[in-house]
Amino acid sequence: MKSKKLDTIRISEIFYSFQGESTFSGRPSIFIRLSACNLNCKTCDTKYAFVNKKTVEINKIIKICKKIKTPYVCITGGEPLLQLSAVKKIIKELVKINKIISIETNGSISTKAISKKVKKVIDIKTPSSGECKSFNKSNLEYLNHNDELKMLISNKNDLIFAEKTIRSIIKKRPQTTILLSPNLDVPGMSQRLVKWILKKQVPVVFQPQLHKLIKEKPIYLL
Ligand code: SF4
Repeated sequence: MKSKKLDTIRISEIFYSFQGESTFSGRPSIFIRLSACNLNCKTCDTKYAFVNKKTVEINKIIKICKKIKTPYVCITGGEPLLQLSAVKKIIKELVKINKIISIETNGSISTKAISKKVKKVIDIKTPSSGECKSFNKSNLEYLNHNDELKMLISNKNDLIFAEKTIRSIIKKRPQTTILLSPNLDVPGMSQRLVKWILKKQVPVVFQPQLHKLIKEKPIYLL
């Protein structure tokens, strides 16, 4: 008899740690980091996810998520949307076990097919990444009330780009949550960014990446 093919997904790692980004920041969360990415940002801190690859059954991942009592699960990468069909399957299973799901995506791929039950945290790449033309503008159409846009700020050029982008987005969608994170590898960037936000009076959330501030050591689950 033919055995049923089980659904799988390609991951880099699964770990348990604090959420360092988005408005879920500070919450204990399970992270499912998928492998591979379609961009090549100069500011990337997860290039290891491009080479660390294992194919894992979705059932196995759900079992791991069940064991950890936090309701928060973050699907990240790499770029998760490169595996859209597997991502949709894993989301469906996580919803069944009452997890509160977020997905972090680089903004270059359409998020249309992602369930409204999931918080989308969408990057808009700034010039310092070398990928600032990558944003898929249709993603603005699919934003739900709890979704968030995010920009990493490393220098003056990024600030100029961010201001133009923020003003254009809030003109049409004044309620959009836009997170600005200072690049913590650039000395003094946090202070510069805070001053800039107050001076420009832009409606954003200042968000230093918590996991980098506390240099946390995650608990690896797979
Ligand atoms: S999109 Fe994210 S994972 Fe991909 S290269 Fe850029 S920072 Fe790295």
